Amino acid sequence: MSELLDKYREIAGEDVVHHLIQLAQPLRGMKIIHVNSTREGGGVAEILHKLVPLMKTLDLDVRWEVIKGNQVFFQCTKGFHNALQGFSVGISPNMLENYEKTNMENAEELRQALEEADLVFIHDPQPAYLIEACPNRRGKWIWRCHIDCSRPYRPIWKYLKKIVQKYDASIFSLAEFAQALPHPQYLIPPSIDPLSEKNIDLPQEEIDAVFTRFNLNPDLPLIVQVSRFDRFKDPLGVIEAYRMVKKFVPLQLVLAGGSASDDPEGKVVLDEVLRAANGEPDIHVLALPPDSHRTINALQRASDIVLQKSIKEGFGLTVAEAMWKGKPVIGGDTGGIRLQVIDHFTGFKVRTPEGAALRIRYLLHRRDTLEAMGLRARRLVSENFLVTRHLRDYLALMIGIISGLEDRIDVARWRS
Ligand code: UDP
Repeated sequence: MSELLDKYREIAGEDVVHHLIQLAQPLRGMKIIHVNSTREGGGVAEILHKLVPLMKTLDLDVRWEVIKGNQVFFQCTKGFHNALQGFSVGISPNMLENYEKTNMENAEELRQALEEADLVFIHDPQPAYLIEACPNRRGKWIWRCHIDCSRPYRPIWKYLKKIVQKYDASIFSLAEFAQALPHPQYLIPPSIDPLSEKNIDLPQEEIDAVFTRFNLNPDLPLIVQVSRFDRFKDPLGVIEAYRMVKKFVPLQLVLAGGSASDDPEGKVVLDEVLRAANGEPDIHVLALPPDSHRTINALQRASDIVLQKSIKEGFGLTVAEAMWKGKPVIGGDTGGIRLQVIDHFTGFKVRTPEGAALRIRYLLHRRDTLEAMGLRARRLVSENFLVTRHLRDYLALMIGIISGLEDRIDVARWRS
């Protein structure tokens, strides 16, 4: 079929691609829209950049729209995000009013496409209110939540739930994130794209070049965390863990992160991180532009161990990215990290800086174990967290939703 599909065939196998082609057939001609709130930065944009072109390659009529908003809008939606992840956040009635108004304004441009679409995927809370602006919608609307909402802050969830329950279905990444809602809930973990700049194999010179470029010492073990500067990613906990290890083993730390245009807190947290790093020469805090995919790829490949010490995590694409590169991950024992980091097998789950420090020392002293874990980590991602599996789940879900209450779906019959 297409060159792109041939490339996925090489990585994921002929059967997997054949399955995608079969599942896509009944959906041809249907109008599908994804809506989120940023084109760059963060996991949702990362996923849509890969999933949408792959759907197009399967001849699906799919588009991706991004809503716009002012600073107050994004402060409010970041508040939603923090509240869904369990923080008690106060959001004023004025901010809620602005949230609703912003969605209504965005709907002016998008209404026709949204109302005509057969399947509308709304990602996260930012554009969720669009459903209120489309009373004449004719398709199925699905709310896709990427956030760890296992224990949401109730007053804010109560507000959002009133909106979300108008949807025909919702998707969460893990069973523990599912909520009491009056519609079907689907579980689909995210994925990484092995063909993206972020994940393709790199020549060794390009990996080595990051040492010179960022003034790293090629003779010292390197631990890396890649994340937006966000408190839930616990960059300060990573610095603490690094300092505990440093007392016993020489090593260096890279904290690499950029900003996302829908995340107004990044600058404040970056300043906190810089203060905590206190100019220490072996702590490298890198604020990278949003298109630094190859640089991040090279940093992950150059590392000995990757950390993702989040205290809440919807999935943690950075974990899958590192594991795909054969790196064991020491990750926070939370949310989507639990799907990927299997203790003593693909890495270690930790709850404290002390725990992270202990596991870093353990792995740096046992290179064989570190490498064996890395190999298993790559295999786990290859079997579970590639974009081909993700797309298969989406296609199956769309067929299921369109088929409604039929208790048996015969895809072959549908096709003919
Ligand atoms: N990322 C990036 N530049 C950065 C920080 C992160 O490209 O400076 C990417 C990272 O490689 C991953 C995504 O953004 O692909 C973050 O997704 P994740 O699920 O780990 O976290 P989120 O930001 O969605 O909470």
